[in-house]
Amino acid sequence: MLQGQPSYDLVLKGGHVIDPKNGIDAVRDVAIKDHKIAEVAEHIQGGPGAKVVDVSGFYVTPGLVDIHVHVYAGTGERHAYAGDHSVYPDGFTLRSGVTTGVDAGSSGWRNFPDFKDRVIDRSITRILAFINIVGSGMRPKYEQSLSEMDAQAAAAQALKYPQVIVGIKTAHYDGPEWTPVERAVEAGTIANIPVMVDFGTFRPERPYEELVSSKLRPGDISTHMYLDDVPMLDAQGKVRPYLFAAKKRGVIFDVGHGGGSFIFRQAAPAIQQRFVPDSISTDLHSDSMNAGMKDMLNVMSKFLNLGVSLADVIRMSTSNPAHEIKHDELGNLSVGSDADVAVLHLEKGHFGFVDTYGARMAGDEKLICELTVRDGRVVWDLNGITREDWTGLGRYHTQGSAVWDRTIIDP
Ligand SMILES: [Zn+2]
Repeated sequence: MLQGQPSYDLVLKGGHVIDPKNGIDAVRDVAIKDHKIAEVAEHIQGGPGAKVVDVSGFYVTPGLVDIHVHVYAGTGERHAYAGDHSVYPDGFTLRSGVTTGVDAGSSGWRNFPDFKDRVIDRSITRILAFINIVGSGMRPKYEQSLSEMDAQAAAAQALKYPQVIVGIKTAHYDGPEWTPVERAVEAGTIANIPVMVDFGTFRPERPYEELVSSKLRPGDISTHMYLDDVPMLDAQGKVRPYLFAAKKRGVIFDVGHGGGSFIFRQAAPAIQQRFVPDSISTDLHSDSMNAGMKDMLNVMSKFLNLGVSLADVIRMSTSNPAHEIKHDELGNLSVGSDADVAVLHLEKGHFGFVDTYGARMAGDEKLICELTVRDGRVVWDLNGITREDWTGLGRYHTQGSAVWDRTIIDP
């Protein structure tokens, strides 16, 4: 330790850093100070008082960014994503390495302030939102009502909360009109933010091909990309050319696994033919959490076992989704960025993965979250790698320090 060298709060030592945005795929130490990434280098001395954690043998990545979750819980409404279909985020995100979740339209331009007060402002996870073009959000009573879809009002709400609202969502529509998509795009254009589309009921009056070929703008997001309804493969099993053309045009394809939107017989041939996701997301909700989806790392592990490289899987779960929502400050380990970090273990063995029709795929690799750091502090530590063995502590009391720990001590 040289004179004048900085003393860090937390140093993750000896891990294999994968930071796609900065082109790092090598063993590096990562130092954190004052809630920010302070240094990424081959050898970092912590300095006096620094908490140094050995993470050798693990992968160190930016905190994962899941751009399709439903976390508008607590309203008391049954059968609604603005209600009982949502889950509170912190019990699902942090233990999977997810430090940023984007709610995909559970709230609309009318009830977004309630969602913000109820969940966003009280969560450890950074929660951002696509607001629904439907004013009352995802509630069965309102979702099919065209009069609820107000582009001006949605754009105005987005412009009022530019740090939190990152896009406009349209979802679940079963009518023949293009109106929900058109109004969402209109709102997105006014507020200069992307639109995310869950196409609802696929109908011949509004073909999916037209959605991605002309209705969506470059930068708009088609989620549920491996849904059965998506016309993906021709009679010979080839990925249809319009999908590659849409991707080339700049339309974003997102996984949005969920409880009904990911099947291996679409995903496997598509990935083999390089029709891969721009972003991996869970569509976390009460009906996906305990089925084939499970959590972000389980969905990422499916792609690993389908032949996507680990570096690409991490890119699709960090810097790519951050870029899609125009938050390039997230999803990387650049010096000065918020210290959101995931420490992952790539387990080898015999595993099984299940799709949303209940079909199984065997696999030999699975990502597990060892440690999650959010805003510079440990929020998840699966095996206690930040902790001292109790047998050496004498008559011990509460361990850790609020400087680097938010699991035991929350000042
Ligand atoms: Zn969803």
